[in-house]
Amino acid sequence: MSDRLCRGLFPEHGLRAVFVRVGDTARMARMLHGLYPTSAHLFAQALTGGALLGALQKEKGRVNLQLECDGPLSGLFVDADHDGNVRGYVRRPAVNFPGDPARGARAALGGSGFLSVLRQLGDGQHYRSAVELVTFDLPEDLRRWFAASEQVETALDVAVVPREGEPLGEVAGVLLQRLPDGDDAAIEAARARLLGGALPAALARGAPAQDILEEVGGQGFELLADGEVAYRCGCSDARARSAVSALGREGVLEVLATEKQAVITCEFCRSRYVVDEAALRDIARRLGEREASG
Ligand SMILES: [Zn+2]
Repeated sequence: MSDRLCRGLFPEHGLRAVFVRVGDTARMARMLHGLYPTSAHLFAQALTGGALLGALQKEKGRVNLQLECDGPLSGLFVDADHDGNVRGYVRRPAVNFPGDPARGARAALGGSGFLSVLRQLGDGQHYRSAVELVTFDLPEDLRRWFAASEQVETALDVAVVPREGEPLGEVAGVLLQRLPDGDDAAIEAARARLLGGALPAALARGAPAQDILEEVGGQGFELLADGEVAYRCGCSDARARSAVSALGREGVLEVLATEKQAVITCEFCRSRYVVDEAALRDIARRLGEREASG
């Protein structure tokens, strides 16, 4: 089953709904970053949360979900957009607490930290809002983030369900929000079903997205958009060069004098970029011209 992002409405109840399935993406990310089981579990949850937040973005704007903590994981970062593109990284990939994944995730997060979300609003504006970690359960702290930061009544859950020895068998998230004229009782009922474990139970049964949404939100779901979710990175040679430029002319000259090349590994996708001697000279010359004219 390929990873999908579904958006739609429950017109009768005045709710909007998003469902994301990101199992392939989470397993790919685990391989890419060499994640041990507990790091992989937390990153799978965070990718799901990021994809849900991305789906709520207006077109073009990106959203970043960031978690900082004093436990062994140290932190993680997810970058997502409206079109189902997600990417990210974990500070400490090699964290594993055997046994119950939820208990392991708590141990990996430690005893203090925060969850923050940065939204691009268009025309260079952005909005950041954060909550302290209280439950050290990522889905629950994400619910607390919505309650504290969004003016909209929200019901959500994120689930990672093992399948046939694969700990990241099914990874999915569901989010419902009450529209301005929406029904309070309907969002309350959805919240109660999610807290009762409706999402992991439906995933374990292999239910399709539409069935899961109707099980959580009631009958009458209308699908508005159904698209692909994938781990995609926008890095490039040009971005690697601009990262080198950020060292300034002195910094670039120092690299030229010592290593003669700059090697940059993208923290999101592990792609490796080599900025060679000729390119470094070119960057240094341009920075020099800019300094002379500025
Ligand atoms: Zn990259």
